[in-house]
Amino acid sequence: MDVYNLINGELTQAKASQTLKNINPATGELIGSIPNSSNEDLDEAVNAAKKAFPLWANLSLEERSEYLLKISQGILDNLEAFAQAESLDTGKPISLARNLDIPRAAQNFSFFAKALSQYSDKAYAMGQAGFNYTQQDPIGIVGCISPWNLPLYLLTWKIAPALAAGNCVIAKPSELSPLTAMKLSQLCQSIGLPSGVLSMLHGLGSQIGNQLVNHKDIKAISFTGGTTTGQVIASNCAPHFKKLSLEMGGKNPNIIFDDCDLDKAVDESIRVAFANQGQICLCGSRFIIHESIYDSFKDKFISKIKALNIGDPSLEKTNFGAVISKAHLDKILSYIELAKKEGGKIIYGGKPMMQAGRCRNGFFVEPTVIEGLSQQSRVNQEEIFGPVVTLQPFKDEQQALEIAQDVRYGLSATIWSKDISRCHRVARALDVGLVWVNSWLVRDLRVPFGGQKDSGLGREGGFDALSFFTNTKNIFIKVDGINHG
Ligand code: NAD
Repeated sequence: MDVYNLINGELTQAKASQTLKNINPATGELIGSIPNSSNEDLDEAVNAAKKAFPLWANLSLEERSEYLLKISQGILDNLEAFAQAESLDTGKPISLARNLDIPRAAQNFSFFAKALSQYSDKAYAMGQAGFNYTQQDPIGIVGCISPWNLPLYLLTWKIAPALAAGNCVIAKPSELSPLTAMKLSQLCQSIGLPSGVLSMLHGLGSQIGNQLVNHKDIKAISFTGGTTTGQVIASNCAPHFKKLSLEMGGKNPNIIFDDCDLDKAVDESIRVAFANQGQICLCGSRFIIHESIYDSFKDKFISKIKALNIGDPSLEKTNFGAVISKAHLDKILSYIELAKKEGGKIIYGGKPMMQAGRCRNGFFVEPTVIEGLSQQSRVNQEEIFGPVVTLQPFKDEQQALEIAQDVRYGLSATIWSKDISRCHRVARALDVGLVWVNSWLVRDLRVPFGGQKDSGLGREGGFDALSFFTNTKNIFIKVDGINHG
């Protein structure tokens, strides 16, 4: 199953004919090749986008919206094929791809198709002097760069608002998970999206990703990925004053107070820790638990882990699959080794998981729980982005907050307590972009999404995304002869 770029409405190989290998994480087998794109491909995509931009930007809102709704419907009509491709490419359970990734990708397009009609300009009257009104203009050609963990979900979370706002998009999906981006390219061809409006360039971040960020005609970059990559992108965008949105890493606290509904907190904490094998930026990886319920939480949590169905992601019953690559598996295992050196005790898991049958060469690691680490240990400070959580006890609310805040990241947090005042207090004090109280990953696409500290810059979602993908112009009109007498 080979992958091609989408340039000027055509599926093509990279100009230099270079390819990369795409590997199935659950089996270690080759899925196919992907283009290793470079500047020549980018120039062609930019030229096509330049031609398409006036047409696309000048369509009526209804016409642009109609295209987005057709893409959304096309994803839903082919949901099973998209889900199979996503699971194959990433090792995620097919049930997760079917129920979360692909429906959300369709929703991203339908949401922004509708949000567009509600995104109105503003007016500021100045009495007898006249009035101001603002205009939101599309930026031009924008770059959207996405990671491998929720491939189509996050790619479309950027592409949909960028297109809705009237921009042409050059997208760079992760080289580790290109299949659903390729299917999206085919879908855009089949619904007749005008050539050049969306280009899809596959390949290495260090090559085509970097070239996209540095291209003089790309006026804005929306990036989701690791904090180190975000730093490189920010330093490349700064000299050109490009508009930049960064959604980056996290080390999210899951704070469990002694007055919570313990069974509910345990049930949901299994997802918080291990959904998509812990490879969701919003997963909690630091469990901060009141000392009076520490042991009971731990026992219940571990008994629930034992009930996970781990293995072949293509099976309906599986709810814990493979991690994305051999390199990522090795990184996760190295952090588990580090935890032991740092004085941590592995109380569950900690080893690679050998599978039988077709997954025997896949990249599986046990869900892992570690306790006894200091807050300053690297395992409590650095993002692992895998199925590894640490447990830490706290004495009181103040200490819980101190532990929760004591990292460079500030993406999200979860709080479990029945005391509503405490929930408000703690939520307000946390220096993060998103807080869930007695729940996790409940998403309303209207709300601002993003992180604080080293987790992000700017906000995506709803009107924030439409604002990012437009330039605001204020126009003042002097009106002679206004008289309120
Ligand atoms: P990554 O930073 O390695 O890669 C992300 C994307 O950037 C890929 O498409 C990659 O090819 C590209 N890239 C790499 N180097 C580049 C460069 N120099 N210039 C331009 N593009 C470049 O991240 P990843 O390993 O794919 O994803 C995992 C990370 O993403 C984790 O840190 C996770 O927390 C983060 N993430 C954050 C969010 C969020 O919303 N905050 C969501 C999902 C994932």
